[in-house]
Amino acid sequence: MNNRIYGYNSLKADLKNINSEFFSIGKTHLGREIYCIKQGTGTKEILYAGAFHGMEWLTSAMLMKFIKNLENSPDLIPENLALFTIPMVNPDGVEISKFREGWQANARGVDPNHNFDAGHENSRAFEKAHGITGPSKTRYAGLYPFSEAETDALYKFVKNHDFKTVFAFHSQGMEVYYNYENLEPPYSYAVAKFLTENTDYKVCTPSGFASFGGFKDWFIKEYRRMGFTVEIGLGENPLPLSDLEKVYKDTYPLLIKGLKTALI
Ligand SMILES: [Zn+2]
Repeated sequence: MNNRIYGYNSLKADLKNINSEFFSIGKTHLGREIYCIKQGTGTKEILYAGAFHGMEWLTSAMLMKFIKNLENSPDLIPENLALFTIPMVNPDGVEISKFREGWQANARGVDPNHNFDAGHENSRAFEKAHGITGPSKTRYAGLYPFSEAETDALYKFVKNHDFKTVFAFHSQGMEVYYNYENLEPPYSYAVAKFLTENTDYKVCTPSGFASFGGFKDWFIKEYRRMGFTVEIGLGENPLPLSDLEKVYKDTYPLLIKGLKTALI
């Protein structure tokens, strides 16, 4: 049992300590809220989301730290911007990962980041090839896209907004992914380079399991706008809470520059 994690209770405690508006975009299968924080009052909308995967709760801690930073320095938010942050898309998975080693899925054993509508049949074919025949701690895509409470909530939320760019935060690898089936805007690669310059992040193209069904994949496919997956930190999941300061320092320039992508 590993209690030294940034779990659902840590998030709720943090939400009590911020001044920004927040609300729930929906409930998980186990009834936890999927919280969203709004900062900025502009019309250009951008979305940062983390902890799609159970073991990747350090992304939630990092995003909440960024939110507090923006509260202390509101000038960092461009004037015409509204930033929406969903720090923990999969709180059930985060909690389950405390006592089930290697748990990335939601409470029903579906991997939220394989359940978006982007190449679902490819995900299913990969599953079969890799011996995944049903609910699993990782990589099971579910019976059909958006079959899960978490992905359905995100789908409805995105559909009710006009996001210029979305960022999905995962761990680990210090990598930024920007493409999906060549459907992304032609300048996406250049923007990914811009995001990572003067950092240790590398711009990458996914292969195999990582290629389908992800949130940014669906967003790119659906809107032909920029979607990025950012793999924070280096090491083995779950990255320890003690990595937070370094991860934050490494990722901060990207988080700040990311805000500007909504203005392109
Ligand atoms: Zn992940």
